Amino acid sequence: MTVLRPSDLGTVLGVWAHPDDEAYLSGGLMAVARQAGQRVVVVTATRGEHGTADPERWPPHRLAAVRDTEIRASLAALDVTEHHFLGYGDGSLPAQDQAEAIGRIGAVMAAVRPDTVLTFGPDGLTGHRDHRQMCHWTTAARNMAAPAARLLYATTTDAFVERWRDVHDQFAIYLEPGLPLRTPPRRIALELTLDDALADRKLVALRAQASQTAGLIAAMGEARYRQWISTEAFTTAAGATTSGPRPAELAGRAPMSRADAQRRRKRRRLPAGPHVELLEDR
Ligand SMILES: [Zn+2]
Repeated sequence: MTVLRPSDLGTVLGVWAHPDDEAYLSGGLMAVARQAGQRVVVVTATRGEHGTADPERWPPHRLAAVRDTEIRASLAALDVTEHHFLGYGDGSLPAQDQAEAIGRIGAVMAAVRPDTVLTFGPDGLTGHRDHRQMCHWTTAARNMAAPAARLLYATTTDAFVERWRDVHDQFAIYLEPGLPLRTPPRRIALELTLDDALADRKLVALRAQASQTAGLIAAMGEARYRQWISTEAFTTAAGATTSGPRPAELAGRAPMSRADAQRRRKRRRLPAGPHVELLEDR
């Protein structure tokens, strides 16, 4: 597989489910592309209004407004000025009209004419069903509206998973056994290791989304968190089908019950408060 550099990517369009997905998975890449003068556009399907363990204090309308403000500040830290919300409800993506959603994303692609499209792989990285839906929609939209654009799926490597296994277990980052999928080195299309300056910028961008990140930063410690966010990896659609469980196997799994989800949340041992974020919302 050809190994890409950010400068190879041309105009970049990232298509994600919730505010903070773009920062976690491509914050360094977006900053590098902008530094090189490339156009970067981000689409976010929802405002992530259910991304809290304390919905009484943070009812959906209030959290949506906060996250709207947060993602703008976060993208500004990366010098990304073009952002669009699709306005879907958090957690609702599998229930939406699929053709309509694909058409809307396709319309953005037709307008932006990206050289590279970034999104989740079929696994949704963390397993979140909104993430998986974004992979399906974005892949279909690209095939329809921008077939020449390079399509890259966010993924992880063996080295990353082994290094951070304790963190992923402690904070229940991933929602299902077998996740995250690890892509073997020969299937990695682009892997970015952020230098100090870039890691600091990504940290600023993630700190700007404090409703989602402050609890984890406090629990991990800033230095460790900064190391954890300092790699980004992508594979191609072809690469994604050759690593880990097949998408069909993931799709066949029963969705997590509310009780299971609560148990997983408790295992995160994060301090209570507005900043305790559901990392399935990552
Ligand atoms: Zn998310």
